[in-house]
Amino acid sequence: MNPNILIIDDDANIRKTMHEFIELAGFSVFTASSGEEALELLKTNNISVAITDIVMPGIDGLELTGLIKKNYDTDVIIITGYSDKYSYKEAISKGASDIIFKPMHFEELLLRLKRVLKEKQLRKDRTKMLKKLEELAITDELTQLYNSRHFYKQLDMEAYRSKRYKHPLSLLFLDVDHFKQYNDAYGHLQGDKVLIRLGRIIKSCLRTMDSAYRYGGEEFTVILPETEGKEAAIVAARIRASMEAEKFTPGSGKIVNVTISIGVTEYCPDERISSFVQRADKAMYIAKQKGRNKVASLNCEFRD
Ligand code: GH3
Ligand code: MG
Ligand code: MG
Repeated sequence: MNPNILIIDDDANIRKTMHEFIELAGFSVFTASSGEEALELLKTNNISVAITDIVMPGIDGLELTGLIKKNYDTDVIIITGYSDKYSYKEAISKGASDIIFKPMHFEELLLRLKRVLKEKQLRKDRTKMLKKLEELAITDELTQLYNSRHFYKQLDMEAYRSKRYKHPLSLLFLDVDHFKQYNDAYGHLQGDKVLIRLGRIIKSCLRTMDSAYRYGGEEFTVILPETEGKEAAIVAARIRASMEAEKFTPGSGKIVNVTISIGVTEYCPDERISSFVQRADKAMYIAKQKGRNKVASLNCEFRD
């Protein structure tokens, strides 16, 4: 799609000539005869670059630039006469991307417009790439859940909120049962498929504010903000049952079931994060001891 360019000048002849020239270069062009009109057009049209004169009745070009930069992701090129009292510095400090002095050569304007658009695109690409990198840094590659580094960061934050607002906070610790046997019987790649499916199952059982993490190997955690241990145990039971019902076909058409053991615990007032996590882990081991494919809870009576 062609970028939208907005030309603002109170001189009808300049507007017309610029319109024709820029349109000929392949852009979609809007024109406004005043800053006020320009602001109206900006509201409803996705303008990439505004090219504005400085001296206009009403809102002048510098003030307009400030308003545009405050409210829109639009670049501004300012056009000014040599004799005008405005400086390059002033225009740039208002957020203008470039400034052109009159008498203006249209070829120069076009070159500068293209450069501003290119820089805009580079900025966008860079922001997108940084966001992608940030996502990668907190994502577990195999399951696409969050990784353990992010787990500790989030848990720290949620524990702080729980303390501050006196809201409950719960934690699940999940571990695949007899996973070594599964790997030995069907191979590591089939084991990986189990972990991927388990990640999806966990996610499908959670509410939007809950978050799931691959803690490491075949162990997963779930943070449940605003949730008491009793409620968390219900979520855990749902995950356990969903996994038990899932059918795996690791080879030769045979259907295999894989189960998980889950530990549940609620955050106790003022306790350390490490003891909170350890208690969830302990609860998970109790579920293992009870015969696996179970949910076990430990409340604050069992805090260290
Ligand atoms: P338990 O019921 O007591 O948890 O038995 P288990 O066999 O699951 O426990 P154990 O800790 O003895 O073994 C864990 C296994 O998980 C061993 C390891 O090869 C496997 N594992 C850990 N990470 C991965 C992984 O990323 N992919 C696969 N396929 N297997 C993994
Ligand atoms: Mg384990
Ligand atoms: Mg295990």
